Amino acid sequence: MEIFELINECRICGSKKIAKVMDLGDQPPANSLRETLSENLPSVPLQLVHCADCCTVQLSATVDPSYLFSHYVWVTGTSKTAHEYSKFFCSNVLLRSNVEKPFVVEIASNDGTFLKDFAKNGCKVLGVDPAKNIAKMATDAGVPTMADFFNSDTAKKIEDKEGKADIVFARNVIPHVKEVHSIILGIANLLQENGMGVIEFHYSQIILDELHYDSVYHEHLFFYSLQSMLFLLKKYGLHVYDLTRSPISGGSLVIYFSKHPKEISPALAEALATEEKNKINELQTWLNFADACSIHAKKLKETVQEYKAKGAVLGYGASARSSTMLNYALLDSNNIDCVIDKNPLKQGRYTPGTNIPIISFEEGKERFQNCSCILLLAWNFEKEVIADLRENGFTGPIIVPLPNEIRIK
Ligand SMILES: [Zn+2]
Repeated sequence: MEIFELINECRICGSKKIAKVMDLGDQPPANSLRETLSENLPSVPLQLVHCADCCTVQLSATVDPSYLFSHYVWVTGTSKTAHEYSKFFCSNVLLRSNVEKPFVVEIASNDGTFLKDFAKNGCKVLGVDPAKNIAKMATDAGVPTMADFFNSDTAKKIEDKEGKADIVFARNVIPHVKEVHSIILGIANLLQENGMGVIEFHYSQIILDELHYDSVYHEHLFFYSLQSMLFLLKKYGLHVYDLTRSPISGGSLVIYFSKHPKEISPALAEALATEEKNKINELQTWLNFADACSIHAKKLKETVQEYKAKGAVLGYGASARSSTMLNYALLDSNNIDCVIDKNPLKQGRYTPGTNIPIISFEEGKERFQNCSCILLLAWNFEKEVIADLRENGFTGPIIVPLPNEIRIK
């Protein structure tokens, strides 16, 4: 049985008018970190398409979620940036709520890092996350978490048991799920009449502007603009009235919405006008993006090869995004000796499709003296990682592939 299906209509509006934007080749799902190289990995087309009717850019292939999630190893709490951002996120959301001690539900709450801050502020919290091991970790750490996919059925269960929610938030998950309609319906049903919904997503304007082609991987099904996100929410009677910006993923938007229309903030009005001006919802803009990414990836390979001629090359960060970057730029174990990752669940495994061994930071440190450069695959944590590498004695060049032009630090 194939683990994926190709779509022939838009997942959001059902239109058949979908056109290919970009082909990143056949790649194994990005989180398939093998323990041995003899384990066979499936290969799935990685292509972007654009819907002429609702403008939503999306992947052409849907990988079976049970395959994707059984291999899921990302834990929010491992990143310092995520910890710092969670405090800011919490205070920002609570400031906007007019309920004293709100009941807060998080969709795809992972290890509970974000809800912990709400709990500390006296809120009643509930997380929902499909990864059983991670949901248990969160519950053990004091953040009650249902081990389930969030959808309209789960929303009903929560409502029956705990009542309606004052705040429902979903960070970096709405672009990742094919059951997006059931999720948005669930949010609409679960929210109190005066409740507030919050969605954070990697913003397609920034993906286009800064060439984030590494954000195209099989879990990342949708590349939303404000226009396409507003269209989706409106289908379920939800009205977006404001936005803020977030540093997560190298550039995200946080949108705030309600069940009843509110006055649109100047920030939202301005962002919508900018989208219009930049034509980010048009096919041609995405075709231009695809050309620029292809040139960038070729340049990246040449840069790495120049350093490889002088000695070993280490990578930093074995994320889903780095998997796409390595596969698309044709960088494998012939060009990169190993990839450092601090997540113990990834260490001792291999990058999918490119077969580079993943090692711990401590093991990486032992190789600092004898390597010609480090390729910063986790470039969206640039400041944090470079400071860490320098503090730990790495003095050589660091290749920062994105945003935009390749830089050597
Ligand atoms: Zn559509």
